[in-house]
Amino acid sequence: MTSLPEDQQRNYEIFRDCLSTALIEKISRPEPKPKRRSKSKKRTSSSPASTQDTADTDLNNADDLVDFVDYIATETFRALPKELKTVDYHEYTKDATLQARFAHRLPLTGADTPTILPTLDPAIADSLSTYSITSEPTQGPDEFLAPILTAFLSSLGTPPRAPRATLLDADGCELCGRDWVPLSYHHLIPRFVHDKAVKRGWHRAEDLENVAWLCGACHRFVHRFAGHEELARRYYTVELLMGEEGVRRWVDWVGRLRWKGR
Ligand SMILES: [Zn+2]
Ligand SMILES: [Zn+2]
Repeated sequence: MTSLPEDQQRNYEIFRDCLSTALIEKISRPEPKPKRRSKSKKRTSSSPASTQDTADTDLNNADDLVDFVDYIATETFRALPKELKTVDYHEYTKDATLQARFAHRLPLTGADTPTILPTLDPAIADSLSTYSITSEPTQGPDEFLAPILTAFLSSLGTPPRAPRATLLDADGCELCGRDWVPLSYHHLIPRFVHDKAVKRGWHRAEDLENVAWLCGACHRFVHRFAGHEELARRYYTVELLMGEEGVRRWVDWVGRLRWKGR
């Protein structure tokens, strides 16, 4: 198995997790229809694990299953847009272009798959069909991959679970930019109104854990600036907060403390 660049390893592992969950579910739930091994559908044999080579693979064998998952995951991951291979939580959630292209379209449907994976090797579709993981025309590769891509993109948009460990990764307060002061995370949709925010349709459940890393001064300022409900409804991103002149004035002022601290 050719290895991926180091800066892609983390996202690849996330992707493989999402894919193996879906694959294993399919394999352990036998399809009612008999296997179809249509030779006429074969489009390429250049791939190292095209249907010819995997025909002897027994997916009930753990080693074979791991190889199969690795193969499908690696080839599919390779076909993803470049930025999705390396982006981390902070970059992904702060990048308006990525949010518009991917996060705002969830959950994806089969029709979205070709727009995200335009160069996917047709051998993948063959392999999936060979093992009855897909069954055309109702569950083709696009329909099979859509929920996997959805799970992958949702994971990219989920904040790191261990705040203490990831504090080391935050490169400064997301409002004032100071990078030598202790940071804490601010729930952009305050926990206090989580239930209400979902019930009233202000936000989707998967967005509730969106956080911003803030220094103590900015964090206290934000909670003085607006109450829980107002933060949840009007200021649920760093950009929305920075859209307010009062916030920008604060940030300018507190940012100047930078020079005192150096
Ligand atoms: Zn700050
Ligand atoms: Zn807070």
